[in-house]
Amino acid sequence: MVESIHRSTRAQREQWIKEANYNVFKLRSEHVFIDLLTDSGTGAMSDRQWSEMMVGDESYAGASSYFKMKDTIKELFGFEYFLPTHQGRAAENVLFSALVKAGDVVPGNSHFDTTKGHIEFRKAKAVDCTIKEAFNTTIFHPFKGNLDLGKLEDVLKSYPQEKIPFIVVTITCNSSGGQPVSMENLRGVRQLADKYGIMVVFDSARFAENAYFIKTREAGYENKSIREIVLEMFSYADAMTMSSKKDAIVNMGGFIGLRDKELFDKAAVFNIMFEGYITYGGMSGRDMNALSQGLREGTEFDYLETRISQVAYLGTRLVEFGVPVQQPFGGHAVFVDARRFLPQLPKEQFQAQTLVVELYLEGGVRGVEIGALLADRDPETRENRFPALELLRLTIPRRVYTNNHMDYVATALANVYERSNTITSGLKIVHEAPIMRHFTVDLAKVV
Ligand SMILES: *Cc1c(COP(=O)(O)O)cnc(C)c1O
Repeated sequence: MVESIHRSTRAQREQWIKEANYNVFKLRSEHVFIDLLTDSGTGAMSDRQWSEMMVGDESYAGASSYFKMKDTIKELFGFEYFLPTHQGRAAENVLFSALVKAGDVVPGNSHFDTTKGHIEFRKAKAVDCTIKEAFNTTIFHPFKGNLDLGKLEDVLKSYPQEKIPFIVVTITCNSSGGQPVSMENLRGVRQLADKYGIMVVFDSARFAENAYFIKTREAGYENKSIREIVLEMFSYADAMTMSSKKDAIVNMGGFIGLRDKELFDKAAVFNIMFEGYITYGGMSGRDMNALSQGLREGTEFDYLETRISQVAYLGTRLVEFGVPVQQPFGGHAVFVDARRFLPQLPKEQFQAQTLVVELYLEGGVRGVEIGALLADRDPETRENRFPALELLRLTIPRRVYTNNHMDYVATALANVYERSNTITSGLKIVHEAPIMRHFTVDLAKVV
């Protein structure tokens, strides 16, 4: 669908962001000109997807739309069993209810916030094993989403097997900048998992973008199709959680893919409790149809190339303006290094969030903070956690904006960069929720 967008004046934006307590999640969308908050559920569906909506089967049980989705998942990922859920975190909730208990340890690569939330909510611990290159935005590494296999093995060695329900591999790795994981690394994780008898779960929201990077960056894969690469990737996993709002290009939806019947049966109980009956799990038939079609379109090379090139276009424009960004550029977003952008601000004043607010004031562009606000407090000490990276994420919705819009965004941010030394104070927290605070936090200017 084509939607109109709305321009505004700086004076209006000053008023609106103040009313939103300097939290861009609290802005009304019509007060945003170009919305790069997220690529989650914000894509434009295709003609094919809309026509699939018309032939959805809304039967409560055993709908043909369910079987269409089941066949697509079997064909693309090789999973025999699946459970539909209303979105990605719901898939996590259902699967983790079956697998995670208090005192457990879940190693992975920069766990996504909802993933970490669902682990910590169950009084378990998420241990980050991402390679150290990921935390230096100036180093070029083709697979910054990779796990450090040495670190991972240390974790697997230091805890008894029954304390580690699974290893979670996020593809691509959202929190470290939309960075891919190589096939070699996925294989390495599988080998370690087998050695220690641990399950592997892929957090798969951007699996197709990950496959694109494998095809274009990893030796031996240049002549393989995206679908072949996807099948090999998932051959190293025991289960997957999926937020279909990303690479399946739908506005809402998710699922769990599984190999093991016993685990499927266990998770199905939670699916019925939290989501819906196992053949719809929080989705309507038409939405399952659009999702199946979206998975097919999302794994076409030409589509992926167009999308990922647009992200790189924005990144390149920013580099031309001298703006410090994470390189290589991610699959779904460009990540701006707020520490290098606003080095004069103390980290306690939330550099990345300050930059988010400045960009909104400058041009009505809504980005999002991936930094200390998102990192939340340590669940035990309740101290603020300051992650290795303070980032402003500019996330590009799928099939929505043109490169002309990207030029506007780059120019707006370049304007902020030019006057960055005049930004001498940041933000402080006025009110926050006990978990996942970034969505609802109220902030005020430090004066
Ligand atoms: C978006 C996302 C999730 C959560 O999915 P929702 O659909 O937003 O609930 C989990 N993991 C990753 C990597 C994601 O990007």
